[in-house]
Amino acid sequence: MNIVLFGPPGAGKGTQGDNLVKNFNLFKLSTGDLLRKEIEQKTSLGTKIKDTIDRGGLISDDNINYLMEKALSDKKINNRLIFDGYPRNINQAKVLNLLIKKNNLKISCVLSLDVDKETVIKRILGRRLCSKCGLIFNDFFNPANNRSHKCDPSYLNKRSDDNEKIIRSRFETYLEKTLPILSYYKEQNLLYQINGLAKIDVIFKEIQGIIASIET
Ligand code: AMP
Repeated sequence: MNIVLFGPPGAGKGTQGDNLVKNFNLFKLSTGDLLRKEIEQKTSLGTKIKDTIDRGGLISDDNINYLMEKALSDKKINNRLIFDGYPRNINQAKVLNLLIKKNNLKISCVLSLDVDKETVIKRILGRRLCSKCGLIFNDFFNPANNRSHKCDPSYLNKRSDDNEKIIRSRFETYLEKTLPILSYYKEQNLLYQINGLAKIDVIFKEIQGIIASIET
């Protein structure tokens, strides 16, 4: 099973991706996480892309395709993949189709989490990411506590691109470049649209129902 998680920044793709990883033994492939790792490790790619990420722009397709080709050739994880934050434009969606075919895989479904701009802004402003375990929390909607988070709270950080001006620009980029992909997947009968404003566990139940329906 390979799932594409689709939606604007702050739609809850990371959170639902983590739920899928835990419950279905899948592997989350987040291009945002891969890119942030490149920056953290100060690789030549990381140095090149830092400004673009901090501005909320998109990284070039060549760099993204290179990262995905590398990840998809890893036999340990392929056919158990959740794509989070990828594809982000129609060209990436077409390259993904080619990579998927080349590796004898298929996309099982595209789960689109539908959320409006003002909700996205509030969610992103409250977002905290644990730099140790990678879990995502939210000061307003899903705060970290002793039960949900085992690492020291000092590991909880805000992302450098999570400020209001950049969020608005990332949302505009999503509308212009990413949203058009939906019709591409709709034509392939892979698209499931989900109300991303519902509670985290309600959304996850809906996702479980969709997975059950495509597996039978
Ligand atoms: P995310 O963690 O998905 O919100 O991504 C954070 C940032 O990484 C985005 O604002 C882009 O600058 C970059 N990025 C992530 N995924 C992609 C992608 N598939 N194509 C281009 N840029 C990306």
